[in-house]
Amino acid sequence: MHSLIRKCIENGHYTMQVVCPICGSATEFALPPKYSPADKFQKYRLKLMDGDKSGKDNSKSI
Ligand SMILES: [Zn+2]
Repeated sequence: MHSLIRKCIENGHYTMQVVCPICGSATEFALPPKYSPADKFQKYRLKLMDGDKSGKDNSKSI
């Protein structure tokens, strides 16, 4: 999905125009960051949970 949202370089106004209608500055595409570090960590977390299952009775120590 392509976003048409642009951001004014000078003042950070959000617009869909090539030239900011508010201050008249040039604009550039305001793209969100592509990678998400949370996703990476979720992979590890799932792996850890799997390992926890197989190693039961590990935390039951009285
Ligand atoms: Zn502007």
